Amino acid sequence: MPVPPKRRSQSKGKRGRSHAALVKPVLIKCPKCSRPTRPHQVCPACGSYKGKERIKLKMKKKKENK
Ligand SMILES: [Zn+2]
Repeated sequence: MPVPPKRRSQSKGKRGRSHAALVKPVLIKCPKCSRPTRPHQVCPACGSYKGKERIKLKMKKKKENK
């Protein structure tokens, strides 16, 4: 049976949330564009993985010109 929140002590509630903290994502420096990226994933800034271009990204040059 669930216990209503006002019947639970402050420490019981905090102990239940002890594993709910957010984890900071691991970031490495992209070897091609030197921007922070996640390891084992294609760089979102230049689309490269292991030094080669794997996906072609849509350029946002139209917004830059305005
Ligand atoms: Zn990159």
